[in-house]
Amino acid sequence: MILDIGFETMPREDLEAIVLRRLKATIDRVYANIPFYRKKFEENHITPNDIKSLEDLKQIPFTAKEDLRDNYPFGMFAVPMDNVVRIHASSGTTGKPTVVGYTARDINTWAELMARSLAAGGATRGDIIHNAYGYGLFTGGLGIHYGAEKLGASVIPVSGGNSKRQVVIMKDFGPTILTATPSYTLYLAEVAEKMGVSFHDLKFKFGIFGAEPWSENMRQEIEQKLNITAVDIYGLSEVMGPGVAIECHEAKKGLHIFEDHFIPEIIDPGTGEVLPYGETGELVFTTITKEAFPVIRYRTRDITSLNPEPCICGRTHIRMNRVSGRTDDMLIIRGVNVFPSQIESVLMGIDEVEPHYQLVVDRKGKLDTLTVLVEVEERLFSDEVKVLQNLERKISKNIKEYLGVSAKVKLVEPKAIARSQGKAVRVIDNRKI
Ligand SMILES: [Zn+2]
Repeated sequence: MILDIGFETMPREDLEAIVLRRLKATIDRVYANIPFYRKKFEENHITPNDIKSLEDLKQIPFTAKEDLRDNYPFGMFAVPMDNVVRIHASSGTTGKPTVVGYTARDINTWAELMARSLAAGGATRGDIIHNAYGYGLFTGGLGIHYGAEKLGASVIPVSGGNSKRQVVIMKDFGPTILTATPSYTLYLAEVAEKMGVSFHDLKFKFGIFGAEPWSENMRQEIEQKLNITAVDIYGLSEVMGPGVAIECHEAKKGLHIFEDHFIPEIIDPGTGEVLPYGETGELVFTTITKEAFPVIRYRTRDITSLNPEPCICGRTHIRMNRVSGRTDDMLIIRGVNVFPSQIESVLMGIDEVEPHYQLVVDRKGKLDTLTVLVEVEERLFSDEVKVLQNLERKISKNIKEYLGVSAKVKLVEPKAIARSQGKAVRVIDNRKI
């Protein structure tokens, strides 16, 4: 369902006129209110008046995650704290967290975009949404929550964790939409199975999954296991939170970016050059309606490409392809670039393999080694050792063939790999220690 026909199906020309007007207003605001941006503009001899077209945006330097950290905690806010009604922060696994703020109007905009997202993913007023994203400083839980209420659906704010209770709620309350990270979803499926509950007997129709990169094969696995249609949602706290882009359930082929609020670009992460549609690179966003925490040309570190082709759902907003990885997650193994999601894609193409894996990188002397731990069906361990060895060899061969990197594959028993209740830990890189 398209919630906002006016904006979401607007002819491109009309949309671009609105985007330009909103961009100019944002540039004026950041220049006047955020010393970091004023200094950047001055250093590059740019004034807000130089931004006359969308093309002119390219003159402005990028904003990086380090810039947000340097201005920790509130230095990038464009409004006085009197006007800030909510604060969120990223997990900060590497250094200080990045802190973001919202005015009352920002919260309303976010709720509207999340309502539009949920509708694109198949939700309606009549649905019950089981929201297993974490509530707290992480934007996932509250982002979905406010959107669900705005849509008029019934939301169960179950958050992450306490998985057995989640299964009981699923059985008793009959939710029809599941929102969670893909890895936690698979864990919930395991817990349900152990409790003798089949997802095929539950009422779920759609699942809206995100907050970590996942592959097309993982989608099929989830759809079969849960008997639902699964769509991909995208967002990050620095830009807003979830609801920056979402797949329509009609096409399930790329995520529509809400261009009436965000301007996307794809750049070469090495040179910063803007790449044409279709080419893969780092995704960059400029927000054009946010009041408290606007960002100009923010480098997301997410790797994807943009697709301007019209979509069967009727939306005119551009689509970004599924995020294939993050520049931070990219492993360089003996000079070859490898994303965990590419390995996942190879693994999920093999029947005997379960959707739980971990990559371990070591350095022996000067040589990097990659070990892929992957769970397989229990019955294989009762077969002859040769069966396991053959499967290990097959997986290793496929990885070499698709990614050009040699990997040692180690098959492990079900549940041998630790489960996450939020974002999965896919990589253990011992080279950094
Ligand atoms: Zn569509």
